Amino acid sequence: MSFLPPSPPDGHRIGTIALVGAGPGAADLLTLRALDRLRNADVVFYDRLVDPEVLVLTPARKVFVGKEVAANAWPQARINRVIVAAAMDGLRVVRLKSGDPSVFGRACEELEAARSFGIPVEIVPGITAASAAAASLGRPLTERGRTERLVLATATCRPGETANLSGAFVPGTTLALYMAMHRLSVVEAELLAAGAPGDCEVEFVQGAGTAGQRILTTTLRGMAAAATGLSNPAIILIRWPKTVDRMACAPALAETS
Ligand code: SAH
Repeated sequence: MSFLPPSPPDGHRIGTIALVGAGPGAADLLTLRALDRLRNADVVFYDRLVDPEVLVLTPARKVFVGKEVAANAWPQARINRVIVAAAMDGLRVVRLKSGDPSVFGRACEELEAARSFGIPVEIVPGITAASAAAASLGRPLTERGRTERLVLATATCRPGETANLSGAFVPGTTLALYMAMHRLSVVEAELLAAGAPGDCEVEFVQGAGTAGQRILTTTLRGMAAAATGLSNPAIILIRWPKTVDRMACAPALAETS
C-alpha cells in the first residue's frame, strides 16, 4: 500500500468504516441498517451514482469522491487514503456506494485498506441494480423452468482485459450486465458468435428505481442499434431460456421512457 496515515496517539479512539449500499436511488429502497449508519455517521464519502434523495438522510459531512467509469476523478488509492485517515481520526465513516457495495463496487480495496490499519469495517448490503431492474420491469430475474441461473457480469474489466461473457451464457441463463453501455456491439457480436439465439429477450433499464427511469425491450440481435437513445447508468438483462415457449412472465411495461 502506497500510503501511511498517522497512527492514532495512545488512548485515542479509532473510528469505524461502513461500506453502505445506497440501493438504486429511491430512499425507501435503503435498508434500515443503511439508514442507521447514515444517521450516525460523522462523514459520508459518496460517489456519482448515489441519489440526492439518499444523501439528505444523513446529518454527516458529505464528501463527493466522484468516481466514474473512464473518468476516475478520484483514483481508488486516494479514496482508500481518505476513508482510512478519517477513521484514524476517530470518525464514524460511511463509504456510500450505489446498489450493493459487494457488486462491482471496488469494495475489496477499501476492506483491505481498513483492515491493514486495524479499523473495524463492515459491509451493509444494498439493493443491486439487477434487482431494482426486475422490480421496474415487474418481472423476476429467474423464471422456473426457463431461466434457473442468474449471472451478474460486467463488460468493463481492468485495462487490457476482456470479459468472457459467452462462457457464462448458456441455455437457462439470465445475464445481468453492468457497465456495458459502451460495449453493446462487442457484447452482441460475442454472444451471437458463441451460439446464443438472436431472439433472446433483452431488457434495458436505465436509471432503475429513479425518477428518470427508462425501459427498452428488444432482442439480442440488434440490441446495440436499438439502444442508441439510452445512456448510463443502465443495466441490461439478456435471457436465454432453457425451453422455447411463450414468454413465461411478460414484463408489465413493454417500452416506456
Ligand atoms: N454496486 C452497484 C453497481 C456499480 S457499477 C450495484 O450493485 O448496483 C455501475 C453500474 O451499475 C452502472 O454502469 C450500471 O450498469 C449499473 N447501475 C447502477 N445504478 C443503476 C440504476 N439505477 N439503474 C440501472 N443500472 C444501474
